[in-house]
Amino acid sequence: MNKKKQDTLIVTAGRDPEANFGIVNPPVYHASTVLYPTLEAVKTRAQPVTYGRRGTPTTFALQDAIAELEGGYRTVLTSSGLSAVTTALLAHLKAGDHLLITDSAYQPSRNFCDNVLKRYGVDVEYYDPCIGAGIEKLLRPETAVVFTESPGSVTFEVQDLPAISEAAHRAGAIVMVDNTWASPLYFKPFEHGADLSIQAVTKYLCGHSDVMMGAITSTEAAWKETLADHGALGQCAGPDDIYLVLRGLRTLSVRLERHMETGLALARWLGKRPEVAQVIHPALPDHPDHAIWKRDFTGASGLFSIELRPCTEKALAAFLDDLELFGMGYSWGGFESLIIPQYPKKMRTATEWTAEGQILRLHAGLEDVDDLIADLEAGFERMGKAEG
Ligand SMILES: *Cc1c(COP(=O)(O)O)cnc(C)c1O
Repeated sequence: MNKKKQDTLIVTAGRDPEANFGIVNPPVYHASTVLYPTLEAVKTRAQPVTYGRRGTPTTFALQDAIAELEGGYRTVLTSSGLSAVTTALLAHLKAGDHLLITDSAYQPSRNFCDNVLKRYGVDVEYYDPCIGAGIEKLLRPETAVVFTESPGSVTFEVQDLPAISEAAHRAGAIVMVDNTWASPLYFKPFEHGADLSIQAVTKYLCGHSDVMMGAITSTEAAWKETLADHGALGQCAGPDDIYLVLRGLRTLSVRLERHMETGLALARWLGKRPEVAQVIHPALPDHPDHAIWKRDFTGASGLFSIELRPCTEKALAAFLDDLELFGMGYSWGGFESLIIPQYPKKMRTATEWTAEGQILRLHAGLEDVDDLIADLEAGFERMGKAEG
């Protein structure tokens, strides 16, 4: 058979019904203790399952599925998306190393770099997400990691990963991508030069707002260190959560298509509203990095931002507080629509966020798009009244 297409992989990856009485889904193994049949087995540890924390066939099923979809060598699971970021960084950095991290990174990832990595003697430097090949000037002999997040999950700069990777590799550094926004479906990090890809599995892979989990997928060259420190740090994910993610994963493709369609419809509608100064969505032609997005990505998820025209806090509250379908919450990727104010000015150090208006980040859920538009429209009406 030819190389399978992605929608087929979504269904087949990590499944082996024949090994499991013909049952379609893998069983949920609850395990801490794993028994060894002989002294020889204890000494060699030459059996696939050795200790609960190091994974069971349930764990391996999801790890295999994510590795195949991301296009990497192998995957490990962690207790949250953030712990996937921190574990990946710890596994590939040591005291005295230099880390380059994008100024558009997820705020808690920044917090870890500023408050933990610095304390352990890592030189943390933020760079302009739009730097591209220009990263060359920032690379030093002691630069061990270039961390990217593309697009940034609040401000949506799309990074030129091939250019960044080429320069980083020439300087002997490895490249990590937080690939949560696109999911493994719409961006293939290893085809664009990444050495490690990180997923907040919590978001689209789970897709139902009820699990915290992370995944680190690695090339073969970076695998040994990734696996060793994942183990050293005691990272693992629970079996029931893994099961929920395996279940969510099978519908990722149809879900994402709908998130994309509805997200684009909302973005286009919002772009015509007088209350909106700009829509920040990489799949719209007027986005500054649209050409890079179009070159490297095969789709867009449902997460984007808008900048409002200047308005009072009272008007903003009138808009947000009484929305019926859009919830105010941070963790996106589930079936429901979300909206949340964001303050990128406070999250930057290497570059300046110059937009003056309030930023709102939206997640397009799976509701009917006309109902979502009606909800926003009613919000803008309340806003107008509150503004007087
Ligand atoms: C949510 C998120 C994370 C963290 O994931 P958690 O599971 O919430 O810890 C990391 N990176 C990005 C881009 C995210 O959106």
